[in-house]
Amino acid sequence: MADVRPAREGVTMAAVPSVRQRPSGDTRGPGGRGPTRAQRRARDIARVRRARHLIQAGVAVFLLVVALRHHTGESGSTASMDAVCPFGGVETLVTWATTGELISRTHPSNLILGLAVLVAAVLVGNAFCGWICPFGAVQDALAWLRRRLRLPAVRVPRRADRIMRYGRFVVLGVVVYASVHTARLWFADYDPYATLFGLGWLFEFDPAAMWPALLITGLVLAASLVVDRFWCRYLCPLGAVFSLVGHLSFLRIRRVPSTCTDCRLCDRTCPVGLEPSRARPFVSADCIGCMDCVTTCPVKGALGVDGPVLAGVPRHRDLERVSRIRVGR
Ligand code: SF4
Ligand code: SF4
Repeated sequence: MADVRPAREGVTMAAVPSVRQRPSGDTRGPGGRGPTRAQRRARDIARVRRARHLIQAGVAVFLLVVALRHHTGESGSTASMDAVCPFGGVETLVTWATTGELISRTHPSNLILGLAVLVAAVLVGNAFCGWICPFGAVQDALAWLRRRLRLPAVRVPRRADRIMRYGRFVVLGVVVYASVHTARLWFADYDPYATLFGLGWLFEFDPAAMWPALLITGLVLAASLVVDRFWCRYLCPLGAVFSLVGHLSFLRIRRVPSTCTDCRLCDRTCPVGLEPSRARPFVSADCIGCMDCVTTCPVKGALGVDGPVLAGVPRHRDLERVSRIRVGR
């Protein structure tokens, strides 16, 4: 079903045209000195990526400290991982809205965090998945490892990819239904994010009780090694919520067809397998806002962040006039 070939070839600095390869019009700085445009672009890519990975790592460390304190501190004295998960807000929302009660193992903090990330998604798009989610960071690390080991990636055919993305909505429906009917945080027993970062496998290892979670986590990690962001693309229920909210985002990545040269470099960088080169004019609501395509695009004004976007309608004719987030070019 899937063909095997290198994916995200464009993510390495090698994909940015070198000085010898540089396209016509790729100029040096004032006076013929300083970096070429290709070099400036490579620097921009590295800078944005470094910032993103630093934030992801910081959040991951924070959550591991929370889990560590919870397992090693006095019983009941420290918050558990469950208390700092925005998806817990989604899981308890129906019960809370209909009965005023929270399902077991959820807290008001889940509702507050859930609301905060949804408001953020409306304001700035789905940057949570690209910049904050620690499980997204783990998948990025696995993709990085695969490239370092020069392992082949599996690129899921476009049609299968489109169908498999509905898997997130199926998981979301099952989780909400089960949470309401069991009145507990049902998904925590299967969630690979909670399994990995909750550190139960380290402090309360019980294979008889934990085997479904461990099996799912192992399979998801193995799949993420060969398919970039496998969990985010096909299974994450919070991603399903973001995908719906993404249609209302005020800030969205937009392509300007009249400027775009159809080189498709941007497609090769996208960690969630989108095709910014085909955006008309906005990229899919599944975009995680990583900015890789924007920093990689060699044509000024072809791809950028447009805003404010109201209900999917661009308010500007071209990117030169919009509040484009510039990255040094
Ligand atoms: S479309 Fe661009 S910003 Fe969105 S996920 Fe893909 S590469 Fe990142
Ligand atoms: S948006 Fe930029 S990188 Fe993507 S196809 Fe157009 S010119 Fe190439």
